[in-house]
Amino acid sequence: MPGELASLLMAEAVELVLDAKARLGEGAVWDAQRQLLYWVDIEGHEVHVFDPAAVRDRSFALGDSVGTVVPRAKGGLALTLGRAFAALDLETRKVSVLAEPEEEKVRHGNRFNDGKCDPRGRFWAGTMAVSEAPSAGALYRFDPDGRVRRILEGVSISNGIAWSAAADLMYYIDTPTREVAVFDYDDAAGEVANRRVAVRFPARHGWPDGMTMDAEGMLWIAEWEGGCVSRWNPARGKLLRRIALPVSRVTSCAFGGAGLDELYVTTAWSRLDPGQRRAQPLAGGLFRIRPGVKGVPAFAFAG
Ligand code: CA
Repeated sequence: MPGELASLLMAEAVELVLDAKARLGEGAVWDAQRQLLYWVDIEGHEVHVFDPAAVRDRSFALGDSVGTVVPRAKGGLALTLGRAFAALDLETRKVSVLAEPEEEKVRHGNRFNDGKCDPRGRFWAGTMAVSEAPSAGALYRFDPDGRVRRILEGVSISNGIAWSAAADLMYYIDTPTREVAVFDYDDAAGEVANRRVAVRFPARHGWPDGMTMDAEGMLWIAEWEGGCVSRWNPARGKLLRRIALPVSRVTSCAFGGAGLDELYVTTAWSRLDPGQRRAQPLAGGLFRIRPGVKGVPAFAFAG
């Protein structure tokens, strides 16, 4: 067997670290300073703080859909809540709305979905129609000075986002396109240009959902309905590996651990029928894989 194919098929140890039974687990991000994993249950309206050393998970019920979460440089967390950018104080559990960019779209029932911070600590997050109506969403950039800019229009389900190590490229997933788009990225200005396709997802794959980058510049993508995370070379649009999980709805992934060599993966049971739920008792769990490659540190919100 050619070495490349052998590595594609290599069996990986997938460890269930938390049988969380999240409806829609998402938004995994590692806080290297505190050695904690933050993640959300969008439909369960919760933010979670997982401490791997103590094997302890704390949840914060926020009363609205939490699209994603990032560490905040001044302490606590920044997150998207319903249609707002917000902050959560982990000590007092107080939530403060920071910005609400999409009020004119309330009638469409939009909510925020995935997002992450860029290398300069700007918080990028996109929206989607709860009905999944096409092109109703947008991608926003929330700057540390409190201003929000609408960067992309006509987004359907805004999902994974990542930047190259040199901060000269931005990768972005609008799930129904079945593509990873790549833009030239102006790090100083936070502007994107020259959109093209980095990866096209073949029909035999799931839907591209959350995404992160490893230290070799390769993309790791959670596959909704694909039951795996897959690793791609974005310069060549080429599949490198797929690692199977025991659940179909794989939603986000993030490198963590002291050596940044553990890949944490969130999953969901939302909209599985009763038979599927019986067949996937671990759906909604938080998993960990040691894929033999390291990640890069995530960025905190600088505002
Ligand atoms: Ca997602």
